[in-house]
Amino acid sequence: MSRSHSIAVIAGDGIGPEVVSVALACAERAAARHDVRLTWRELDWGCERYARSGTFMPDDGLDQLASADAILLGAVGWPSVPDHLSLWGLLIPIRRAFDQYVNLRPARLLPGVVSPLRGVDELDLVIVRENVEGEYSQVGGVVEENARATTALQQSVFTRRGIERVTRYAAKLAAERSGRLTSATKSNGLVHSMPFWDQVVAEVCAQEDVAVEAVHVDALAARLVTAPGSCDVVVGSNLFGDILSDLASAIAGSLGVAPSANLNPERDHPSMFEPIHGSAPDIAGKGVANPVATLWAASMMLAHLGEAEAADDLYSAFTGVMADGCLTADLGGSATTSEFGAEVVRRLS
Ligand code: ATP
Ligand code: MG
Repeated sequence: MSRSHSIAVIAGDGIGPEVVSVALACAERAAARHDVRLTWRELDWGCERYARSGTFMPDDGLDQLASADAILLGAVGWPSVPDHLSLWGLLIPIRRAFDQYVNLRPARLLPGVVSPLRGVDELDLVIVRENVEGEYSQVGGVVEENARATTALQQSVFTRRGIERVTRYAAKLAAERSGRLTSATKSNGLVHSMPFWDQVVAEVCAQEDVAVEAVHVDALAARLVTAPGSCDVVVGSNLFGDILSDLASAIAGSLGVAPSANLNPERDHPSMFEPIHGSAPDIAGKGVANPVATLWAASMMLAHLGEAEAADDLYSAFTGVMADGCLTADLGGSATTSEFGAEVVRRLS
């Protein structure tokens, strides 16, 4: 009996459609090998739509997504549109509406990729970022008494439930891997939120029987550079997790290979999978973008949908192509986006 999954696709702007079309073709092929059918619902949301109509998605956009089994996103952003508009007009509403409270960002040194750090020839870590609360809050404002006395207030919101559930996810992941969990904190400077974070993290890890090390985020950033192998699973708040995962993916060699999953682990709502890079206006339309980050995101999507074998096939196919020396320009190769995709499809045939 064949299974089928319906995927909402937001290819978005710039290189988004270029890398997404490769990912769709390859994911479809990997799924078909296991008698799994993927159906795509393509949505033309993003900055072009914003320029035309003033909104990034239609009023009933979230309702349209709710019935999908998963969401695959390319990139939303364009130089003429301030970043925070697309973030708060599309990405954050989706993350919050579907309670995608885990942002999973693996950083691994893939075949053919050279880390910018000398001596690093192996890297395999996962950043688990809290994705719906914390520092990314709309609570606050600007108090302007007069031109010379203006104060901006930006409140963080940390709830016990929010910290517990992201930590539980990270602790279970750590238990499946090395058993080691590192928690990013800053309890010496942020005297209300971070001691609470530390306390709840410690409680959950005790329940889950996972050893946790709390490290100040500044020291942790330095440690990721000097000894990246000393971490395995790292859990962090919305802001800390964001910064650390960009750092980790930089160590892993290129933005073009770093994926991200916005997960609703309970599967009450669709989860969303995307490359962490943006629309890359400097190379958009040239056909040279690296599709690996989106292929990896699609593999994570298949795994989340319960299609572990198809997910593994897809992952093996694109890493195999890289190991054979077929690389895009960002990694020093000369393959175009579609040449790379064609090689992956060939391996899956
Ligand atoms: P946005 O505002 O959409 O986030 P951005 O310019 O801030 O865009 P990115 O789009 O992530 O950030 O691009 C940063 C740099 O990385 C650019 O030079 C871009 O060309 C490069 N880059 C990003 N993604 C890829 C990719 N998939 N393949 C090759 N190069 C990439
Ligand atoms: Mg950007």
